[in-house]
Amino acid sequence: MTGIVVKSTGSWYVVREEGSGQLHRCRLRGKFKIKGLKASNPLAVGDHVTFEPELQAEGAAVITHIAPRRNYIVRRSVHKTGHVHIVAANLDQAMLVVTLASPATSFGFIDRFLVTAEAYHIPVTLLFNKIDLYDADEMDYQQQIMDMYASLGYPGLACAAHTGVGVDAIDQLLDGKVSLLAGHSGVGKSTLINALIPDLDLKTAEISEFSDKGVHTTTFAEMLPVRPGTFIIDTPGIKELGLVDVPAAELAGYFPEMRALLNQCRYHNCQHTHEPGCAVREAVDQGRIALPRYDSYVSMLAGEDNRH
Ligand code: GDP
Ligand code: ZN
Repeated sequence: MTGIVVKSTGSWYVVREEGSGQLHRCRLRGKFKIKGLKASNPLAVGDHVTFEPELQAEGAAVITHIAPRRNYIVRRSVHKTGHVHIVAANLDQAMLVVTLASPATSFGFIDRFLVTAEAYHIPVTLLFNKIDLYDADEMDYQQQIMDMYASLGYPGLACAAHTGVGVDAIDQLLDGKVSLLAGHSGVGKSTLINALIPDLDLKTAEISEFSDKGVHTTTFAEMLPVRPGTFIIDTPGIKELGLVDVPAAELAGYFPEMRALLNQCRYHNCQHTHEPGCAVREAVDQGRIALPRYDSYVSMLAGEDNRH
């Protein structure tokens, strides 16, 4: 039988059977290793697996094969130094919930997420939440920011999870896809998920029944069905996706507006900070690259906000 991992609590996995949608409590048999990836967990939410049905003696199904991943996102492992933790695999897209209202999302946070998504080839839509709190000037300001990101290939959508504005449009963007939903705490992610999945408590409880009851499960990523074929991966334990080991020399390549200019710098190993003849800094000076984006690049390069 084949299915998709919808929750992982370390030693137990909940797998949704393909076709029937039935949930199975599974264990992993044997060792699975992916070449070149030092991961603390062999299996993640979103993994496509083959499993053998429940054996009476074990009280669980047994996963025998993991299909190759189309993509995946990782963060640093908190358990094993030098290893990564695979947060989720096989994503169609990521939705980053942000807001200009309190607590306002910083450009640094947004851009770090976007760089991570670029590195893993995952399309991102920005959901600008809490617009019910804005006056006309604030709406204008938000529109400018949305336009800026849209011009880079990251479309935005304004919403108010609280009042339901924009929720139908978000639902349409999710349709038929597996979407990661991320955002810093307080931004309204839970409110949005509740608006998108009215019987959320029921669905969460259903999945919990099949995972290890002894484990406090709210810190694990979970794939929730909006409806058949449409899924959200909620990542409650993750404040942000780390920029895992993007070498300084490659960083600018993950900024689409810089990527196009890289071969125009005078020095091929230009870091775009102080070098003469830098095409990136020229573009910043001329307003072709937005200053907050360049600032994000510089602080990521310096490792100020991430690499400690
Ligand atoms: P999470 O930490 O991202 O899951 O955020 P929550 O969903 O718990 O929301 C944090 C707070 O923001 C709560 O008090 C919500 O009621 C509030 N909130 C969420 N969405 C909106 C919105 O669209 N407008 C307003 N005004 N408040 C919201
Ligand atoms: Zn340069």
